[in-house]
Amino acid sequence: MTLKKSVSVFGVTGSIGASTVDILKSHADKYSLEAVTAHRNVKALAKAAIELDAKCAVIGDPDYYQELCDALSDTAIEVAAGENALVEAAQRPSDIVIAAIVGAAGLKPTLAAIRRGARVGLANKETLVCAGALMTAEIAKHGATLIPVDSEHSAIFQVLEERAENRIDRILLTASGGPFREWALKDMKTVTRAQALAHPNWEMGAKISIDSATMMNKGLELIEAWHLFPVAEKQIEIVVHPQSVVHSMVEYSDGSVLAQLGSPDMRTPIAYALSWPDRIKVDAPRLDFATIGGLNFEAPDTHRFPALRLARQALQEGGTLPTVLNAANEIAVEAFLEDRIGFLDIAHTVEKVMTRLGSDALTSLEQVFETDAMVRRETSACLASA
Ligand code: NAD
Ligand code: MG
Repeated sequence: MTLKKSVSVFGVTGSIGASTVDILKSHADKYSLEAVTAHRNVKALAKAAIELDAKCAVIGDPDYYQELCDALSDTAIEVAAGENALVEAAQRPSDIVIAAIVGAAGLKPTLAAIRRGARVGLANKETLVCAGALMTAEIAKHGATLIPVDSEHSAIFQVLEERAENRIDRILLTASGGPFREWALKDMKTVTRAQALAHPNWEMGAKISIDSATMMNKGLELIEAWHLFPVAEKQIEIVVHPQSVVHSMVEYSDGSVLAQLGSPDMRTPIAYALSWPDRIKVDAPRLDFATIGGLNFEAPDTHRFPALRLARQALQEGGTLPTVLNAANEIAVEAFLEDRIGFLDIAHTVEKVMTRLGSDALTSLEQVFETDAMVRRETSACLASA
């Protein structure tokens, strides 16, 4: 009999959270549940906690504490609420933490898991975007292990040959191109919320769906990849691949390109983060190459998708600029989702805020939290005065 590994799932009610629950349920002999968390969705949180027999359930918004207590009153599951409770949940002794909160809100709990040397399956890319260098330093200091869940980074992680790390020529980060890949710029002006949310290949939460439509998602992933893998910024190329079958590639100095392929189903990279260095069975749809027929690749268009240019600029200039980019984007996406601004205004807003605030040297995590809060205020003010 093998010992079960204990897992905590942050953001269990989201899209990544639900896929994680699905895997954990089908491998109940291998994994037990420590903590599960959500922001406000008490019903789904309580359901996941009961189904997976979690020891503890935490709701981020304290206004929902009583509702959660009521929902779990017949169980022995511990209940807590608030931002500090999320951090305490990450400090509980689980072997693996799946970090699947969306946005910079995931930073503190992810950091707490890293600081106790846990294995973190990282979906929450915003953590690395806002505080990448500080996070990787914390990982090294505390002997934590970071396994990427983002499909592209999982792909790179899977094809990265440790022995040949200094022989990498390029990382080729694939992008689906989103729903507006073939749209003219003038038509993109009037894009609706529903059109932007309808991703051609992936079913995801609202924020990342909008990020995919603006291609900011690929920009954030560029920064994420730079922090995760030993390459220079210039060595990371983005290539549009509409079928989302090749999840990313690594080119070595002898010209060999290694790719990881699979159907667009996040359960595969999530399972790998849970089972690494082993693999477990996942009933994701299998690729039928004869039906797929062809795989296409094209260069990204930074004119129609300026978010790609902005993210690369943030990576090149460094300091607090990626933190600024991320926070401004979160506020702009929220405004678009609430029909307060148009689709193209998302990247315009981010650019305006980046230009206005510029970049400072990044020295501490406190500075990241302060910058994040300040940029949110500045961006909201900028939108209110527009
Ligand atoms: P989602 O919106 O479906 O779920 C987000 C989760 O975070 C929910 O459980 C929500 O309750 C929780 N949450 C939101 N705000 C919070 C707050 N302030 N405090 C505490 N909890 C909060 O998002 P998702 O699509 O599952 O994405 C989650 C993360 O994974 C994102 O960083 C995203 O970029 C990344 N990711 C997602 C996918 C995907 O296919 N969905 C793929 C790759 C990476
Ligand atoms: Mg991705």
